[in-house]
Amino acid sequence: MPKSPPLKESADSRQSGLDAWGYLARARVDRGRVEAWLPLILSAAGALGILPFAIMRFTEGNWFDGVIDTLLIAGIVLLGWLVYRTPRVRVAATMIAILCVVGVLSTVYSNGPQQIYWAYPALMAIFYLVRPNEAILLCLGMLAGLIPAYLPNPDKIAAGTVFITIVVMCAFGYAFSVVTRRQQAALIKLATKDPLTGAGNRRALDAKLGHIVAKRARKPGKASLIMLDLDHFKAVNDAHGHATGDLILKSLTEIINLRIRVIDSLFRIGGEEFVVVLDGEDKEHASHLAEQLRTLVEANELVPEQEVTISLGVAELVPGETPLEWLERADAAMYRAKRRGRNITSLAS
Ligand code: GH3
Ligand code: MG
Ligand code: MG
Repeated sequence: MPKSPPLKESADSRQSGLDAWGYLARARVDRGRVEAWLPLILSAAGALGILPFAIMRFTEGNWFDGVIDTLLIAGIVLLGWLVYRTPRVRVAATMIAILCVVGVLSTVYSNGPQQIYWAYPALMAIFYLVRPNEAILLCLGMLAGLIPAYLPNPDKIAAGTVFITIVVMCAFGYAFSVVTRRQQAALIKLATKDPLTGAGNRRALDAKLGHIVAKRARKPGKASLIMLDLDHFKAVNDAHGHATGDLILKSLTEIINLRIRVIDSLFRIGGEEFVVVLDGEDKEHASHLAEQLRTLVEANELVPEQEVTISLGVAELVPGETPLEWLERADAAMYRAKRRGRNITSLAS
């Protein structure tokens, strides 16, 4: 089996609701859109929900609970801001989820069993923030932590109701989270992958190039592109049929995927046009790899008695250029290879 291209943006079977934020942040989503503000809105709502209680504790002279509530508010706001500012949402999301458990337990133990109402929004937040299995573990931890608070309760029906409703909520939360996660993975796959070859699509390439250009502006380093296009593919299609043409596109993808490293990525951006992105590599390395790909395709008899070749253009990222300019230089180099007779690798100026 060929390895699949290592798209960071690709669907991941271990996603949580918040992992989509990492994807959106890497894809440099428009900050003006409401989704980009959601982590901040959620944390602001959580903080504003606790704020009146913090004020109440202080005015009642209950300094201990007042300080706990204030710390919770500060933690929620800080982590919400962190989630908004960085694409590394996992740590922040896990910390907020743990904070939810700590918050519920501390309020139940310091202010009494009637505080259990906080468990329900906390459970919802936990299932949104972390992966389903992690959420279930945290919920079990919360339940176990609540046992000593309710076991001595003489009203067994009230105590039982609390535990049963929490368990039911966890079951629904888990089911909802698993289904949402699958749908999210399917949607990300649809949005970023080419269905025929499984390579990344143009949208995924744009996100990847934007990410690399932004990264290289912060931290200097090399990055190169190989643009490649099948030679005389129309004639191959005409001679052997469209279905054979499709098989060639799939085989070409396999050949490239088997040769490139896990950290390199392959995208199909036109009918028979592909781009390999080599983060951290200079033009010498990229040209060497391009030549290897060219000879591999030439040597592999993709269709019997039909020579199938590719022309390639290589461009190393020049500091300050935009993703489009970088791509256009690779494209221009590839067309130079076509003009020079095809089955050639050409280096961008
Ligand atoms: P050149 O060497 O200049 O690139 O010539 P070419 O024939 O490869 O290029 P041209 O742009 O004239 O034709 C591209 C062909 O690619 C046209 C179309 O038949 C074929 N093609 C595009 N997408 C697909 C696809 O998804 N499946 C198949 N089988 N063929 C495709
Ligand atoms: Mg072509
Ligand atoms: Mg083409």
